[in-house]
Amino acid sequence: MKKEKKKELQEIAKKRVEKLVNFVIDNSEVKYEDRKKVLELCLKIWKKYNLRNFSVFKRYFYCKNCKKVIIPGETARIRIRGKKKKYITIKCLNCNQNKKIPLSN
Ligand SMILES: [Zn+2]
Repeated sequence: MKKEKKKELQEIAKKRVEKLVNFVIDNSEVKYEDRKKVLELCLKIWKKYNLRNFSVFKRYFYCKNCKKVIIPGETARIRIRGKKKKYITIKCLNCNQNKKIPLSN
């Protein structure tokens, strides 16, 4: 019973984070401070509900190294690399950490 409830809450939280992330992606004209706030809110929800299996957020908007949210185009530089096998590199401009994300297809 308790477990079910937790799962339900996680589902709701996940949808919320998804919505917020999409908002940031779709509204690049929104002020940097506001996008940062939205992503920080995502991080809070994401941690609170332990959304470990929801990797999209962590992959693109969170730097494991300095434990901060990263905003593509602002505090992170994103490049697509590779000839046959394409992958994305995200460089966090806070700590200069690079991470590689393989692109399927
Ligand atoms: Zn970093």
